[in-house]
Amino acid sequence: MFDSLQERLGKVFEGLSKVGTLNEKDVDNALREVRVALLEADVALPVVKQFVADLRERAVGQEVLRSVTPGQQVVKIVHDRLAEMLGGEQSEIQLRKEPPTAIMLVGLQGSGKTTTTGKIAKRLKEKQKQKVLMASLDVRRPAAQDQLRQLGWQVGVDTLDNVPGEPPKAIAKRALQKAALEGYDVVLLDTAGRLSIDQELMDEVKEVEAAAKPSETLLVADSMTGQDAVTTAQNFQEAVELTGIVLTRVDGDARGGAALSMRQVTGRPIKLIGVGEKLDALEAFHPDRIANRILGMGDVVSLVEKAQESFEEEQAQKLQKKLEKGKFDLDDLAQQFRQLQKMGGMQELMGMIPGLGKMGKQVKNAQFDEKAIGRQLAIISSMTKNERRRPEIIKASRKQRIARGSGTTVQDVNKLLKQFTEAQRMMKRVKKMGKKGLMRHGLP
Ligand code: GDP
Ligand code: MG
Repeated sequence: MFDSLQERLGKVFEGLSKVGTLNEKDVDNALREVRVALLEADVALPVVKQFVADLRERAVGQEVLRSVTPGQQVVKIVHDRLAEMLGGEQSEIQLRKEPPTAIMLVGLQGSGKTTTTGKIAKRLKEKQKQKVLMASLDVRRPAAQDQLRQLGWQVGVDTLDNVPGEPPKAIAKRALQKAALEGYDVVLLDTAGRLSIDQELMDEVKEVEAAAKPSETLLVADSMTGQDAVTTAQNFQEAVELTGIVLTRVDGDARGGAALSMRQVTGRPIKLIGVGEKLDALEAFHPDRIANRILGMGDVVSLVEKAQESFEEEQAQKLQKKLEKGKFDLDDLAQQFRQLQKMGGMQELMGMIPGLGKMGKQVKNAQFDEKAIGRQLAIISSMTKNERRRPEIIKASRKQRIARGSGTTVQDVNKLLKQFTEAQRMMKRVKKMGKKGLMRHGLP
């Protein structure tokens, strides 16, 4: 778990609450913290350097608002600049006036191209009433073609039949011919990927680009990518004319630094984000949210809004009281698990809090496998009252007893305790931020 930028800067600016303007020394100290925060969020180093240099010019000499501390003010400057850089011109997928529009998806293997192809197909079909054809150009892995066909069945979108031995560029051409003849509006071209960049892959996407002349070429990139984001983006950028980025696995734990890296290196907008494995887990990109996430603040505002919508009023109040007292024990976690059992879409909520993403994932799995949450609850209910109140006393022998009692393993117990510690830390952080009046000032 990381210190949020707010916490870092709080330390830097301790005792400096009365300064009228941000002087160079203050700013330098603050920027050192910003730099670390960005690196921890996995923003690539060259991008961090550039960002910090740019920020320096903006921050020096700024007047500190009376209602906030210098630390908060710097966070605000950083946040706004981040959001600005991530956002730029907001754009969705561009469709040609004269169909068919060809959209090519490129990226490393496992980045989520095929899934995203299915998601985009569904979105275009349902939201924009487009007639969509999908084609798999992944000729090396027959399973990849089946995967796309399956997705096609699921969303009710046609998939081009594959002809054994046909090279990718020929498949692309055939897809476009079929589209023209049969009145498809959009052709989605799902290309092959590699685990790492190689010349063969780049030559292949270049050939496909030349054959299909796509109006959109989307780089699909995993938001978990760290320092490699720059190299990946640069290489694809050099090979083809990228028009946008789709960031996947934004539902996970990643701090989202890849978003800034990709955006900076390519200069292309992030058009969509993938927030889950399901086919409707594709959303418009909100620069503001990712900026919060990069800064490690969690999306506190949305969190509160969502919590208000979903939690029953009484539960929310109880939790609020616990937060205010800074007490959060295993009984509360159990209570939350029970809530989660009832709630859909909770993984999304968890995903907004850095560090809780994992729990969100578990919740999600639990939706398919009811047993998972049942197991967590069984573990907690095998504990004594004292253990639930003071989990720190649960050492080896107690763990064994609890595991036996709940029909689980010591590993399961450890996993649960780890989750609890993470949740507890997050609760403390939320509490701290509340105290500093962050939300009152409308700061991130
Ligand atoms: P490709 O090799 O680039 O075509 O990647 P795939 O589309 O086959 O995706 C690889 C794995 O990532 C699959 O298990 C997908 O379900 C998963 N995946 C793709 N996008 C997302 C996403 O936004 N969130 C999550 N959690 N999983 C995703
Ligand atoms: Mg694929």
